[in-house]
Amino acid sequence: CGVFGVFNVKDAASLTYFGLHALQHRGQEASGIATSNKKEIKCIKGRGLLTETFNNRVIKELKGVHAVGHVRYSTAGGNEIENIQPIMVRSHKGDFAVSHNGNIVNAKELREEMENNGSIFQGTSDSEIIGHLIQREQGDFVEKIRKAVLHLEGAFAFVVMRENEMYAVRDHNGLRPLSVAKVDNGYVVSSESCAFDIVNGREEFDVLPGELLKIDYNGIQHIQYAEKTQLKMCAMEYIYFSRPDSSIDGINVHTARKLSGRMLAKIDKEAGDVEADIVVGVPDSSLSAAMGYAEESGLPYELGLIKNRYVGRTFIQPTQAQRERGVRMKLSAVRDIVKGKRIILVDDSIVRGTTSKRIVQLLKDAGATEVHVRIGSPAITHPCFYGVDTSSRKELISARKNNEEVRDFIIADSLKFLEVDKMMEAFETENLCVACFNGVYPTDLFNLGVQLKEE
Ligand code: 5GP
Ligand code: SF4
Ligand code: MG
Repeated sequence: CGVFGVFNVKDAASLTYFGLHALQHRGQEASGIATSNKKEIKCIKGRGLLTETFNNRVIKELKGVHAVGHVRYSTAGGNEIENIQPIMVRSHKGDFAVSHNGNIVNAKELREEMENNGSIFQGTSDSEIIGHLIQREQGDFVEKIRKAVLHLEGAFAFVVMRENEMYAVRDHNGLRPLSVAKVDNGYVVSSESCAFDIVNGREEFDVLPGELLKIDYNGIQHIQYAEKTQLKMCAMEYIYFSRPDSSIDGINVHTARKLSGRMLAKIDKEAGDVEADIVVGVPDSSLSAAMGYAEESGLPYELGLIKNRYVGRTFIQPTQAQRERGVRMKLSAVRDIVKGKRIILVDDSIVRGTTSKRIVQLLKDAGATEVHVRIGSPAITHPCFYGVDTSSRKELISARKNNEEVRDFIIADSLKFLEVDKMMEAFETENLCVACFNGVYPTDLFNLGVQLKEE
C-alpha cells in the first residue's frame, strides 16, 4: 500500500491526489482521501485506480488544509468496501482518520481480544485494529497512539489525522518506508520520497524505526516510543516494490538495483560465465539492474522487451487462458534485437516462476539462441508476513525446487540468483529484512508461525 499525508497546506486534497498518483504503483485496488477543514473530517474512497474515484469535481468536495490518503494493495483482508482506507473513526472525543501500510502479525490475537471486550469491526483488514487500539487507550492523543502502537507487532507505517494534528508512525524494525518533507509552511508525509517532487517537498527525512512524529502548527515533535529498535528495511522495497526515483533510508532505489546488477555481473566474470551478446532487463522494475549488469560486464544494454503501458493489473482477468495471454499483452520481444542473440536476461525476482518461464519462451520464440537468467535478488523460499508478497510457501517455486530444477522449469540456459550476503554487499548495508530469502523473521510471528510449520 501507499500512504500520503498533508498538514497545513492549501488545497490539501489535490496535493494528496498528486502524491497518491506518484504512489499508485504501490496499490491499484482501491484509494481514498480524507480531509480536515480544521473543524471536521470528510472522507471519500472507492475501488480501483485513483482516477476511477477522483476527478476535479470530487476533489473540490474535499475542502481543507490537512489530508490523509491511501492506495490499497490487499494482502490482509479482502477487497470489500469496508477495508478501503483511510479508516475513519468517529467518536465524541473527536474524529480521526488512519492510513496504514504494512501487515500486523498479531492482528488475529488483538482482534479477538478487542471483540471479547465489546469492539465491533466493520471490515476484515488489520488497519482497523489500529483505529480501535488508539480509541480505547487513555490520555492525550499522543499518549493514546504511543500506548496503542506498543501492542502492535509486525510491519507498519501509518499516518493519523485529527482535525488539527497529524501523526506519523513507523514500526520498531522500520520494515516499511515512511518519509516526511516540508511544503510551504506545512508538511507532507509519504510512503516513498518519489511523491515529494510533484508537491515541491524539501528538507526530506525518514521517520526512524520505533518513532512517532506529532505534527501540529508548532512544528514536528519526535517521540521514540519503542525501547528496542533496529533497521530491517524490507529488501523487496529496493528490489521490486518501490519506484526507482525514491530514496529509502538514505539509499536511492535505482542505485541499489544497479548495484545488484553489477554484483551479478561481477560474480559471472569471476566464474568466467559471460558468454553472451546482449543484456536485456524485464521492464520496468529490472531495467536498473540490467543497466548495472551491462556496465560491469561491458556487454551492450539492449531493449529486447517492451512493456505495454496500458495493461493495468485490473484488466487481466483471473482465468488461466487470460493469464496466459496476460504476459503477452504486457510484454513483447523486439524481434530484430533478440534474433540470433545470446541473451543475459535480468529480472528482479522469481516468485512462482510462471512469468519468468513465459518471458524466456517469448525471447526464444523471437529467435534468441540462448537465454541466461540473472535475478537481482535471492531465491524466495519463505512467505512474507509483512505485507508484500501474498504467496504462501506452496506457491513459491524456490521453496520446492533447487536452482537446477527452477532453471529447468523456466527453460533457461542458465540461472543465477544474487545470494543474501552478496545482495547486502552490493547495497552496502545489512539493515535489511531478508526473511523471505532465509526464514529469519525480525518479529515474532504469533499464529502465523503455525502456518509456516504446517506447510
Ligand atoms: P514469476 O516469474 O515468479 O511468476 O514472477 C516474477 C515477477 O513478478 C517479477 O519479475 C516481479 O517483477 C513481478 N512481481 C509482481 N508482483 C510481485 C510481488 O508481489 N513480489 C515480487 N517479488 N515480485 C512481483
Ligand atoms: Fe520484504 Fe521479504 Fe521481509 Fe517481506 S519477508 S518484508 S518481502 S524482505
Ligand atoms: Mg518484473
